[in-house]
Amino acid sequence: MDKIKMTTPIVEMDGDEMTRILWQMIKDDLLLPYIDLKTEYYDLGLEYRDETNDQVTIDSANATKKYGVAVKCATITPNAARVEEYHLKEMWKSPNGTIRAILDGTVFRAPIVVKGIEPCVKNWKKPITIARHAYGDVYKGSEMKIPGPGKVELVYTAGDGSESRELVHEFTCPGIVQGMHNINQSIESFARSCFNYALDTKQDLWFATKDTISKKYDHTFKDIFQEIFDREYAEKFEAGGITYFYTLIDDAVARVMKSEGGYIWACKNYDGDVMSDMISSAFGSLAMMTSVLVSPDGNYEYEAAHGTVQRHYYKHLKGEETSTNSVATIFAWTGALRKRGELDGNKELMEFADKLEKATIDTIEGGEMTKDLALITTIPNPVVLSSGDFIKAIAKRL
Ligand code: NAP
Ligand code: MG
Repeated sequence: MDKIKMTTPIVEMDGDEMTRILWQMIKDDLLLPYIDLKTEYYDLGLEYRDETNDQVTIDSANATKKYGVAVKCATITPNAARVEEYHLKEMWKSPNGTIRAILDGTVFRAPIVVKGIEPCVKNWKKPITIARHAYGDVYKGSEMKIPGPGKVELVYTAGDGSESRELVHEFTCPGIVQGMHNINQSIESFARSCFNYALDTKQDLWFATKDTISKKYDHTFKDIFQEIFDREYAEKFEAGGITYFYTLIDDAVARVMKSEGGYIWACKNYDGDVMSDMISSAFGSLAMMTSVLVSPDGNYEYEAAHGTVQRHYYKHLKGEETSTNSVATIFAWTGALRKRGELDGNKELMEFADKLEKATIDTIEGGEMTKDLALITTIPNPVVLSSGDFIKAIAKRL
């Protein structure tokens, strides 16, 4: 059998711990036998990030800008314990944060829906994709404790020194205050990433804020989305048979619960933080959640939403058998391969991505799965497979 040819490389970002082990298994058993895999390889494993003073992360993000498509393995974000464990020169920043800052992207998280792993919300039939704005608001806020009576104001000092003020509160007793901001450019990038991704995946886009209460702050989000939609996207949406729908955040929450899914829900930073955890746990498992970073100028980085599964890795190091779920990492690869195929007009590569996804889903629906899924499935008598045997079971169907 001839292997599928590729014309342009995918940027491959290797990672850490258990997911690094799965990464190699996926390549060996599911990709390399069928594809003449062309990747530009960057080792984002913590040791090599430390060795290169994190330059490798920056290089991998720049390569993504050059080639347009990347696939990333989960990576350790160092904390004090990791600095000690790996004898790091510094507590390097989160690679995802670094990559996101360079690509100026928005993260879309979507559950992989499989029969037998039923969402807690019984009417959800299709995935709900959450897009979270990843800049500003309460995450870049400044706060004060107010010890007693006094006046708190917002003060804006323009370049020419002129001031404008807005009273926050005239305190008569102790209290608290918070100031936060956003910038139009970041909201515009967020809007374009959302509109592009909706067109790309042929799904409706929902967006919601609290503009009735926050008449300047949240209203600006609403206005920017609407202006960009009317000017740049209305016709494309019409042609694609999809809609843009704006509503109040509380109305959106109520509608989401009653919907059957199948759309993208764009959220402000805090709403996205909270709602993505609700959506992912309600759909069944963090190990069945994919994540794609989309930049406003159309670069894509695919990954699993979960981390490096440290606890399983330590078992693996001790020589014990693990049953770690590789589905989200497999779907990161298929997402990247399909996008590469689409951009290069490589139909075979796109079809391969479809077949690999189908083989993965069929394996689970056929009753063979990893332990995390066996614990929650409605399929009777599931067969629990080890990390490696699960991938081999998929390879057999593929
Ligand atoms: P985690 O790796 O997502 O794992 C948390 C727990 O969730 C696991 O211990 C496991 O539960 C379960 N789990 C997650 N993925 C699974 C899978 N594929 N198969 C089976 N079970 C799975 O989160 P963490 O332990 O908090 O973080 C570990 C490291 O990952 C940290 O260093 C963190 O910085 C990093 N991280 C990276 C990313 C990223 O690169 N995008 C994201 C998050 C975290 P049981 O132990 O009960 O089996
Ligand atoms: Mg959260």
